[in-house]
Order: sequence, then C-alpha cells, then structure tokens
Amino acid sequence: MRDFLDTPGHGKRGLPGQKVVVIAGGAGFVGSALCARLISSGQSVICVDNLVTGSADNIASLAKHPRFRFIRQDIISPLAISGPVDEIYNLACPASPPRYQANPIHTFRTSIEGSLNLLTLAERKGARILLASTSEIYGDPEISPQPESYRGCVNTVGPRACYDEGKRAAETLFWEYGAHRGLETRIARIFNTYGPQMDPEDGRVVSNFIVQSLRGQPLTVYGDGSQTRSFCYVDDLVEGLIRLMASDEKMPVNLGNPGEFTMLQLAELVQSKTGRRTPITFQPLPQDDPRQRRPDITRARDVLGWAPTVPLDRGLDKTIAWFAQRIGAPMPGKPVLVS
Ligand code: NAD
Ligand code: UDP
Repeated sequence: MRDFLDTPGHGKRGLPGQKVVVIAGGAGFVGSALCARLISSGQSVICVDNLVTGSADNIASLAKHPRFRFIRQDIISPLAISGPVDEIYNLACPASPPRYQANPIHTFRTSIEGSLNLLTLAERKGARILLASTSEIYGDPEISPQPESYRGCVNTVGPRACYDEGKRAAETLFWEYGAHRGLETRIARIFNTYGPQMDPEDGRVVSNFIVQSLRGQPLTVYGDGSQTRSFCYVDDLVEGLIRLMASDEKMPVNLGNPGEFTMLQLAELVQSKTGRRTPITFQPLPQDDPRQRRPDITRARDVLGWAPTVPLDRGLDKTIAWFAQRIGAPMPGKPVLVS
C-alpha cells in the first residue's frame, strides 16, 4: 500500500472526463465500496483515512491501481493535497454505536473539525463536496416514515449525541458553505446500510447477527426486539451517493430502503438463511435507542431517479456468503443443530 502525503504526480486528471475524487473514510465499509466503484468507472481516487474503524484490507485490491492513492490521515488535521480535485465525499466517521461511543469527543470533532477541513479543501480546489449524514439526525422519530422535512427528536446529552449532534452540525456547516460561500454541497441522509466488508466486530446488528449465527452462538437482541430499522444494501447506497453528487440537489436527501423490519424479524431471517437455529438472548436496550426508523425516499425518487433494487432477502444472501468466507465459517446450507 502506498501511504503518501502530498506526493508530486498524484491528483492529476488523465483522460478527458476523468475526475479526481477524494474519499475521506474510503477504507471503511461504505467508503471502500465507493472507492472500488469509482475506480471501475475510470475516475482517480484519493482515499484519506486514519483507519480508526476502517482497514487496509478493505482497499487492498485497489492498492496497486495506478488511479488509486491512499493517504493515512485524520481529517481533524488540515489536508494538504496537491493537484486538482473535482469531488470530495466525506464519509469519515465511525458509524457503529459502540465504535463512535468509544471516543465520543473524537467522533464529534471528526464531524465538525473534519468537515470544516474538507470544506476548506473543497473551497480551495473548487470541488463539489458531499456529506455522508445519517438518519440519526432524526433521533428517536415521532413520525414514520421520516421525510427530509422532519426536524428530529435528538437527545443532546445522551450516549448517541456525539454522533447525532455531530452530523447535525456537519449538515449546518455544509448548508452554510453552500448557501453563503457558493460551494456545491450535497447532503445524503443515509439509513442503516449493510453488505460485504462490514467489520465483523464493529457491533452493528446485521454483522453481529450474521457472525453470531455462523459461529453457532446465541443472537443478541437488545430490548424486546420490537424496534425497527430499514436496511439498504451497500451497492444501492453507492449508486445513490454517486447520483446525488452528480445532481443539482442542495437540500438533504434520504438514501435508504423503505422496507422496515423489527430486530426479532431480522434475527429470524438470518437464522433461516444460515440454517443455524441458535437461541436468541435478550439484552438491555441501549439508552436512546430509536424505536423505529424508515425513510421516506420520495425526494430521492424525484430528483435522483433512485430507489433501492436489492431486497433484504437477497442482500443478506450475499452478505452472509461474504462473512462466512471472512471468518472462516462453513457456508450456510445444511442446518446445524445447536442445543
Ligand atoms: P465505517 O466505520 O466502516 O467507516 C468510516 C471510515 O472513516 C473508516 O474507514 C474510519 O477509519 C474513517 N474515519 C473515521 N474517523 C476518521 C477521521 N477522524 N479521519 C479520517 N478517517 C476517519 O462506517 P461506514 O458504515 O462505512 O459509514 C461511512 C459513513 O456513512 C460515515 O460517515 C457514517 O456516519 C455514514 N453512515 C453510515 C451508515 C451505515 O449504516 N453504514 C448509516 C448512516 C450514515
Ligand atoms: N441491536 C441488537 N443486537 C445487536 C446489535 C444491535 O438488537 O447485537 C439493535 C440495536 O439496539 C438497534 C438496532 O439493532 O435497535 C440497530 O442497531 P445498529 O447498531 O446496527 O444501528 P443503529 O442503532 O445505529 O441504527
């Protein structure tokens, strides 16, 4: 892996139409899928990541590509990137609750100081810039589904605040730079996304249930499992992010799959797919855990012509196959009875 900072020669446009794209957080779950997709469509990619939750493995297949560069850096520090930059995606931020709560002040600074540094870079380069915001800005929503006009119900002093309020502040920064400093800013409000290259240990529900099930361990349902989430397959999300970047839409856009499932339904679906009927154990519901979440994607349909194409059923098959290989578990197929 080339680990370089501001080396001459990088960030040069090649063929006509080829863009130079900076992806902050590009070694993470979503970021690495976006890097791969942009490289395969002929763009030059500069991945900036401090690897706090991402991994070099996620971008190993791109490391030797002549149009791919990796800079190991925390976006809390100002970025020095030479040469032209056309687009910047800000995906840098831990997304799993246990991970973003492990160092809450750093998480908060990542959203605020990191966003400011990337906005400054965008201003200097005349680049278009997109923020990976989140459905968490709606907090524990009082309405369902959640349209972009909903202003949310967020606890400013709870364990999720460092993430939720950090992203809310980042949205404000992006909006102000767009409205008052003329930057081309985009804001994606991403709902729960899953797929290959999630960190098996990062504590999110889809990875937890799959890994637990493949290992023959009990599935840990928090609370009574009646809380809901809407799960979007990563390829659908990446398509939505690219369309949003290319669009003229400056207001936030929800990107998510409107299919809504309780955590008990998800646990049962994972068990049925792995064929391993391990017990379900109920653990305390974390503080401020949202009761429900479902995107209204009318705006994404209207302005981006985007809607998810991969149903949970099919996305889980691909994700389970990837995890089985990743953790060295036998491929699902034959039921394994666990007492
Ligand atoms: P992830 O944790 O896998 O990836 C985040 C990446 O950002 C990692 O590679 C990490 O090392 C890097 N990073 C974190 N802080 C950094 C910093 N200060 N400087 C440089 N790099 C830093 O998470 P993900 O699921 O890929 O999420 C990507 C983005 O999308 C995040 O901004 C997240 O808030 C947003 N998002 C994701 C989801 C989801 O369900 N995956 C939902 C809503 C929003
Ligand atoms: N959850 C669960 N078991 C787990 C991990 C999470 O029941 O092992 C629940 C969690 O309490 C939440 C939902 O699953 O209600 C989604 O959790 P995740 O951490 O994936 O995302 P977020 O809470 O940020 O939506």
